[in-house]
Amino acid sequence: MRPLIIAANWKMNTTPADAGELAAIIAARTEEPGVTRVICPPYVCLAAVRDALAGTNVAVGAQNVHHELAGAYTGEISAAALAGLATWVILGHSERRRDAMESDELIGKKLARAISSGLRPILCVGELLAERESGRAVEVVANQLRGALAGKDVEALINGGFVIAYEPVWAIGTGRTASSADAAAMAEAIRSTLAEDLGWGKSAELVPVLYGGSVTSANIGEFLAEHSIDGGLVGGASLKPDEMAGMVARAAITAMARAAAEGKPV
Ligand code: PEP
Repeated sequence: MRPLIIAANWKMNTTPADAGELAAIIAARTEEPGVTRVICPPYVCLAAVRDALAGTNVAVGAQNVHHELAGAYTGEISAAALAGLATWVILGHSERRRDAMESDELIGKKLARAISSGLRPILCVGELLAERESGRAVEVVANQLRGALAGKDVEALINGGFVIAYEPVWAIGTGRTASSADAAAMAEAIRSTLAEDLGWGKSAELVPVLYGGSVTSANIGEFLAEHSIDGGLVGGASLKPDEMAGMVARAAITAMARAAAEGKPV
């Protein structure tokens, strides 16, 4: 059974003065069985969030990492620098593809670095609106996967807890979401790209696929009702404790239902 995951991407919000308090409130409001919770604050807030979450089982993630271990890369952060601060990392978010021109090849290098450094990666993929409207969404996402994953060590990725987030770019921060049917179809296309094009075979079934793009407590249920979707990568709504409480509570119901369907404990 794949884990149910709610990952909070705080983007460039919060400061070291307020991030810990917000994280502690969210942790206390989201104590539910069967749901993996991750909070990804800005780099400079990682220590405050880590300290605030000590003693909870909410994980801390970074929003990016450099692919080299050290060197002349002004303004960048290495995996070694994240040791002790974060155990997860978001890679290839569309805002980084857009603003930092991150290519699939570069994202693939970051992925390899994350895995070899013990950081659990969430690889973001997703199409632009024009690409969806011209019927090329699956092709675009498959190309992103091939570009980042070709030649990677599948066993290391699976053992490292590799996660994919399908985030249609046009749904991020817009209040507009993909339909749950389209998101589920994309999750299936993602797993078949892994299984067939990339030769992952049955290992593809082990990879959690999250949906991201204007997820809220009001709409997350539609996505979690789809068996191919294993949670959400949430931006705006993840800064609101009430919203996080609602989303994690809904995910806990799904976790229980899926465990019951497989005759397993949550
Ligand atoms: C995101 O940051 O990955 C995201 C999906 O943002 P939002 O939930 O605000 O659309």
